[in-house]
Amino acid sequence: MKMAGMAALSAGTSGGLDQRKFTLTDFEIGNRLGRGKFGKVYLARKLPEQYICALKVLWKAQLRKQNVEHQLRREIEIMANLRHPNILRLYGYFHDNDRVFLILEYAAGGELFNVLRDRGRFNEETTAKYMKDLASALEYCHRKNIIHRDIKPENLLLDHNGNIKLSDFGWSVHAPGKRRMTMCGTLDYLPPEMVMRKEHDPSVDIWALGVLGFEFITGQPPFEAQGQKATFKRITKVDLTFPCYISKDAQDLIKKLLKKEPSDRLPLSKVPDHPFIVKNLASAAKTAAKKKKK
Ligand code: AMP
Repeated sequence: MKMAGMAALSAGTSGGLDQRKFTLTDFEIGNRLGRGKFGKVYLARKLPEQYICALKVLWKAQLRKQNVEHQLRREIEIMANLRHPNILRLYGYFHDNDRVFLILEYAAGGELFNVLRDRGRFNEETTAKYMKDLASALEYCHRKNIIHRDIKPENLLLDHNGNIKLSDFGWSVHAPGKRRMTMCGTLDYLPPEMVMRKEHDPSVDIWALGVLGFEFITGQPPFEAQGQKATFKRITKVDLTFPCYISKDAQDLIKKLLKKEPSDRLPLSKVPDHPFIVKNLASAAKTAAKKKKK
């Protein structure tokens, strides 16, 4: 199976996407990988090159009905220009009368959400790797003035090596001015400034990384409560309590990301140097080296 080779398909073209006209007959369609809000995702093989990819099929009528055509257009524009090992690649797109097709990088490991649900929680080594890689992907987005705004385990996929891939840029925004007012994203991951309907900036993604770190280690988001009002109250108070099994280093990093004041949040560039990340990646490397020796 050729996967990395798919990148060659979009090399040397303008606007980040392959400008060739694709049609459905260019693909051999395989198993269904999943179902989304507006359509289904299939494993596919691009012919004649035999490259494996994921084909996301969206129904135009549904997009129109939900009034999200604009959102999809924005998602395509944004994803087409992103190149990072931890961001899902969009290779191209095409459409027919009824459907829009997105040609995506295939994430063989599926949704991180499912893995987390099956395992209950991740150990600190795994959490550290995911947090470091996500910080890198988000820092890359922010450098391009893109705020993701919808970070949650459901929007994270895993490739065949277990590497995290950030996807679903449907709520993301290209914000050169850097400050926005829209209320968006998922409840549990909303930062205090969004809950209070204040302006927000790229540091909303830093907050979400803190929420995610907590959820990876405990299996639950930190501000979970009965009903929206109670959740919002916990978020605005930054009502954070850690179960006793979480290390001091993990607690320290999460607390530094979950600061009420956006400008107090730990910059993404500093995440890889935090002791929680440094120590856990070092011990993961040691374990991997030992396994190799055996
Ligand atoms: P979505 O419409 O993006 O929410 O996708 C629906 C489901 O399809 C996801 O929850 C995944 O399980 C699966 N899926 C989406 N994109 C991919 C991909 N690129 N590779 C593998 N599975 C995918």
